[in-house]
Amino acid sequence: MAEVLVLVEQAGGEVKKVTAELLTAAARLGTPAAVWAGPGAEAGRARLAEFGAQKVYVADSTDFAGYPVAPKAEFLAALVASQSPAAVLIAGTPEGKEVAGRLAVKAGAGMLTDAVDVAAGPDGSALVSQANFGGSVTVHSTVKGALAIITLRPNAVTPQPAAGDAELVAVEFAASDAARVARVVSREPAAKSARPDLQEAQVVVSGGRGTGSADGFKVIEELADALGAAVGASRAVTDAGWYPHAFQVGQTGKTVSPQLYAAIGISGAIQHRAGMQTSKTILAVNKDPEAPIFEIADYGIIGDLFTVLPQLIKEINKRKGL
Ligand SMILES: Cc1cc2nc3c(=O)[nH]c(=O)nc-3n(C[C@H](O)[C@H](O)[C@H](O)COP(=O)(O)OP(=O)(O)OC[C@H]3O[C@@H](n4cnc5c(N)ncnc54)[C@H](O)[C@@H]3O)c2cc1C
Repeated sequence: MAEVLVLVEQAGGEVKKVTAELLTAAARLGTPAAVWAGPGAEAGRARLAEFGAQKVYVADSTDFAGYPVAPKAEFLAALVASQSPAAVLIAGTPEGKEVAGRLAVKAGAGMLTDAVDVAAGPDGSALVSQANFGGSVTVHSTVKGALAIITLRPNAVTPQPAAGDAELVAVEFAASDAARVARVVSREPAAKSARPDLQEAQVVVSGGRGTGSADGFKVIEELADALGAAVGASRAVTDAGWYPHAFQVGQTGKTVSPQLYAAIGISGAIQHRAGMQTSKTILAVNKDPEAPIFEIADYGIIGDLFTVLPQLIKEINKRKGL
């Protein structure tokens, strides 16, 4: 079986959950092989083996940290040329999508973004599912030609443990001058929140204009903390400055696909749905029974969020023995 390359998402040697999802998807198309750009592969090896990586191609180069995405795309392009994989799977994060676009141009390959599922088509080539028009239409796509470059939406595929050897294969790599044109001059670690990452969280609690103000939005954080969830927000909230833009969910914000998405005081505009409609279970709290969010909600509570949420938080905490 041909190899399927998976670009590892990691931080300080800690392999991110989306990488396990990518490996699981890759196994449906061929033999999963991880690609590690930078130092620290030894630290992540066990986790890659746990999810079925047979090999780990490692370029232990500092170029990846010193420059934006261009060296990663070059490294992948070199591997595509030498290994002739059936497909390349990359996390559907802002960085991942940029790497994928550059790689597609370099490799002259077709690219499919924002996949929510991946399967082998009748001829064995990659068949990708994409949720379009706010999730109301599922499109199945495939690329012409031998190589498919696919970005997979985080949380869309459930990671399945599968034994792999994760044999480390060192690869010589030095970024070209062209890939060094833009360099990283400084890094500022994002303020570390105790809450899970928005795009990786199993539970997301999002607040909308119904919260009324930055102060009113605090009840969203309280519910999120009771559930151990990430906080999200509608654009109405981020545009008003009640919560940072980094937490906006939707067409022009983040795309999330958690086990549970709670939309609180959010009307359910198509642009918001585009970022959350593939959530496994949707709970809506809204005082307007006609709010469009109820059309896609699995559970709906019609009521004032300032009355509903305190009761919900109290009950959750009671069940937690708090
Ligand atoms: C090009 C473009 C891109 C966009 N991208 C995004 C995007 O990425 N993400 C996004 O979210 N939006 C996006 N929007 C904006 C989108 O169209 C909506 O305007 C926005 O989602 C509305 O946010 P909201 O639901 O919080 O506010 P509203 O639509 O004003 O809804 C507020 C809801 O709260 C309810 N409510 C009010 N008070 C209470 C209360 N006390 N208790 C319970 N319920 C209450 C109301 O009944 C109402 O349903 C985009 C728009 C455009 C044109």
